[in-house]
Amino acid sequence: MNQQLSSLRSQLLKAQEELPKLLEECLGREPLLPGSLYTLRRKCGKPNCRCNRGELHESTVLSYRGNGRPRNISPPPEQLGSLRSMTHAYRRCRQARAKLVRWQRQLLTLVDALEAARVQQGEAEFRKLGISPSVKKSHSSRS
Ligand SMILES: [Zn+2]
Repeated sequence: MNQQLSSLRSQLLKAQEELPKLLEECLGREPLLPGSLYTLRRKCGKPNCRCNRGELHESTVLSYRGNGRPRNISPPPEQLGSLRSMTHAYRRCRQARAKLVRWQRQLLTLVDALEAARVQQGEAEFRKLGISPSVKKSHSSRS
């Protein structure tokens, strides 16, 4: 029982130490863009173009799902850097949030297990006191 309690306590303390690291991403200052960049490869349709020999044209497309419907946008090359950094920051933020949800569940599981173990202890102590319900009842007043 005591071993279980001290193991649960150390697990809880260890879980608590993980919070600052988990919050790091949430505390970031970069703007977030809910979208992602991907490379589109396609043929242009011109009969003598290299794309007909398998060398497809590549362009970077932003799939953006902010403000309503998802949209695909071809950003100018000079904007790709900042778009990439904002979409990456958004993804990291979402991942951090998912980790936080798992962490919180784990924490509550430990808190509940600790509580249950301590209640068991309390009930064992209570039984040792040997207070029987009938004795308690006869001494209680109804005022
Ligand atoms: Zn082509």
